[in-house]
Amino acid sequence: MKKTLQSIANWLNVDCGNFGETVVTGVSIDTRTIKKGDLFIPFKGENVNGHQYVAKAFENGAAATLWMKNEPNPPSNVPILFVEDSEIALQDMARQYRDEHKAIFIGITGSNGKTSSKDILASALSPYYKVQKTIGNFNNQLGLPITILSLDEDTEIAVLEMGMSGFGEIEFLSTLARPHYAVITNIGEAHMQDLGSREGIAKAKFEIIKGLDEHGILFYDGDEPLLQNLVGKEPNLNVESFGFKQENSLVASNIVSTEKGSRFDVRGELNGEFFIPVLGKHQVKNALNAMLIAKSLGLRDDQIHFGIEQAKLTDMRMQLIPARKGILFINDAYNAAPTSMTAAIQFVQTTDMRSEKWLVLGDMLELGENEKQFHESMANAIDEKEVKRICLFGPRMKWLYDKLENKFAKDNLIYTANDYNVIINYIEQHANENSLILLKGSRGMKLETIIESFK
Ligand code: ATP
Ligand code: MG
Repeated sequence: MKKTLQSIANWLNVDCGNFGETVVTGVSIDTRTIKKGDLFIPFKGENVNGHQYVAKAFENGAAATLWMKNEPNPPSNVPILFVEDSEIALQDMARQYRDEHKAIFIGITGSNGKTSSKDILASALSPYYKVQKTIGNFNNQLGLPITILSLDEDTEIAVLEMGMSGFGEIEFLSTLARPHYAVITNIGEAHMQDLGSREGIAKAKFEIIKGLDEHGILFYDGDEPLLQNLVGKEPNLNVESFGFKQENSLVASNIVSTEKGSRFDVRGELNGEFFIPVLGKHQVKNALNAMLIAKSLGLRDDQIHFGIEQAKLTDMRMQLIPARKGILFINDAYNAAPTSMTAAIQFVQTTDMRSEKWLVLGDMLELGENEKQFHESMANAIDEKEVKRICLFGPRMKWLYDKLENKFAKDNLIYTANDYNVIINYIEQHANENSLILLKGSRGMKLETIIESFK
């Protein structure tokens, strides 16, 4: 963005002293990554008080700063806006900037596949529009406003990821971003702890329609009955569905996975054979929602065909990493929940990339009171005829270990509660140029640590 401090002060209904002409070109909450011209936003956390870093922010190029009124000793003679609460001020600024921005806004939520869908959609539209998307995982009540405020004035399409851990959060994000198009990628089990049931999760994601433009369209996973139910209760909502079932607006079939990606047939709003250079059958669904949006924007089928062939994911999502000893890793260790872990395991079991399949699985966190059952249920996804070796990491994976113990030879199944070296040494000893090793676990398990030893 490019705003005078005066216009930001007007947004927030505060005074900016003699600094009205100061130009602000972005916002930052971190002095280590702040850019010249940014407005610094200090937060007050439990351990850190951002106000202590305001001097550093100016040293590193900040054009101005917010300051919470009840914090003592504000600096004098610098461009400063006094606010009640910096988080609310950040959100208010984003709301104002959104309201005056001409871009088409697209909001993406769902249990799995938000970042992937965002990446595929942004890649697919980039040859034809100026597109900006959420950076990394900036998808919450702070990340979303920061993303909005980082949009250039001439951006034509803003692709925004919306995450949540409880009711009300998606409604908040959606009414802030007011998307023209909304996507619900799927319903899984993540955040069961806070939402009680898959029904609860579906309802929470469905809140995205609360901020949807009145002429907007909701794109949703039509293979999910819970979403079908919710859509059924909204006769005035414009919807389009995607998935593998025949009834959807866009249906994919005949998926062929190779080391380069997935080829598949589609029928419905678009027809023909398509290819995405991204691994995993589940990613085909993420491509379908991108294709539907591209179609709604008015792109021709050949443009969409070309667009999705450019798809590129953020790191640690089904990322192929050739490593020492000829080992091929699939780094999908960004995060994990039962749906995404099952999808990743299925991919490994069905690909013919390498002959010897390995699974390195870490704990899935935040699954609530049924976490034991969820971990045990992964045993049903694992086909002992397809998988040669399994390494389990984390205290919760002991439950899965107990389920697998009599299906796998003692030498082929190992477990450690917290020692990466146990797994590293095991891989060192047994893996070779035939090995394809999937790494999958929750963010907190940091399974990518294991790959470092083989680079
Ligand atoms: P987060 O909530 O952590 O931001 P996310 O929704 O952004 O997650 P991604 O980062 O895109 O999701 O993918 C997370 C995991 O889910 C990856 O392992 C990915 O391969 C898998 N995944 C992606 N899309 C789907 C899908 N449609 N169904 C099931 N699993 C999926
Ligand atoms: Mg994400």
